[in-house]
Amino acid sequence: MLQLDFHPTGRHFLQIPGPSPVPDRVLRAMSLPTIDHRGPEFAVLGRKVLSDMQKIFKTRHPVVIYPASGTGAWEAALVNVLSPGDKVIMFETGHFASLWNKLAGRLGLQTELLGLPGAEGWRQGVQADMIEQRLRADAGHQIRAVCVVHNETSTGVTSDIHAVRQAIDRAGHPALLMVDTISGLAAADYRHDAWGVDVSISGSQKGLMLPPGICFNALSPKAIEASKTAKLPRSFWAWDEMLEMNKTGYFPYTPNTNLLYGLSESCDMLLGEGLDQVFARHQRWAAGARAAVQAWGLEIQCADSALYSPILTGVMMPEGVDADAVRRVIYERFDCSLGTGLGKVKGRMFRIGHLGDCNDLTLIAALAGCEMGLKLSGVKLAGSGVQAAMAYFAEHPAPYSLATGK
Ligand code: PLP
Repeated sequence: MLQLDFHPTGRHFLQIPGPSPVPDRVLRAMSLPTIDHRGPEFAVLGRKVLSDMQKIFKTRHPVVIYPASGTGAWEAALVNVLSPGDKVIMFETGHFASLWNKLAGRLGLQTELLGLPGAEGWRQGVQADMIEQRLRADAGHQIRAVCVVHNETSTGVTSDIHAVRQAIDRAGHPALLMVDTISGLAAADYRHDAWGVDVSISGSQKGLMLPPGICFNALSPKAIEASKTAKLPRSFWAWDEMLEMNKTGYFPYTPNTNLLYGLSESCDMLLGEGLDQVFARHQRWAAGARAAVQAWGLEIQCADSALYSPILTGVMMPEGVDADAVRRVIYERFDCSLGTGLGKVKGRMFRIGHLGDCNDLTLIAALAGCEMGLKLSGVKLAGSGVQAAMAYFAEHPAPYSLATGK
């Protein structure tokens, strides 16, 4: 029960796959006084975060920042480049891909949901060959966009986006490629330009280590061109006024000033560390978490070892065990939040987030919370996941010193 007059000692273990823990440095940056968003000081901040985000998305083209959660950026991406009744392909990798599909339908788009059948389909990534086949069959080029999720947060599967681009090119199809990297960006390798993505979509509360509240579209020249003739109604989400105002560092309406202070700080942290190191750090934590799950004798939700997510690990429960009951024990006894199973896999699995402001010891502690909670819930474990994770981290030191970052 939520008790507002009580707060447990120490830090709550926020081990959900976003919102992720916010570093003290970012919290402090956000606590500065709010400034005039039309004044000269703001333009410096505006220009800096827009340019930093180009580096994070790995793009030379514009990035748009909205004061909204990731769902807003989903809608923005669609309404800016498409017209009522346009046909789009979505690929069902999990709950978030399904939600995006539903949103597209509500906007008046004609969606076609591709995917592998049943619950097993939610254990795999985007099948680029299925997309290629479908596009080849669309000789009249009726399909206007292919929409895929990079890191499916509901399952812990990270799809190969470059393979989707290559499939579209092999089919010789002009469809736009739109990618949700809401939980992938700044934690898993992502390359907007090199992978030929037309619109990338992201949010603040995952790899960027910020609270929820801002979201992003990264654009390609082809997407900007498409926006000039697209007919879906849009005002708040419209790119044209944004792009015009952003040239001088300003926004057409009130931006989330304090979250932008935080964004500036988190970009300094991420770019200062170097994105390759950020990605390697997440890969290492994910490997430690998987070592724990395997030692427990439990199954990992992602069934393709080439696509294990660096951001989260989905843990499947044995038949008859309610994953949400296990999560509740872990929360109530050890003050640790884990991600619930969503949609088709509700109650069948839980998700351990290992992203952003974590380290080996916080992850080991979270795994200890899971191990104790699983045992208390009567789940028979083959061995100690905590021991396995400790052994993994001891045997695989980070390729840099934690004292110097070098
Ligand atoms: N897409 C993915 C992959 C997500 O993980 C989420 C949220 O967790 C969303 C979309 C929706 O974003 P939001 O909840 O910020 O609106």
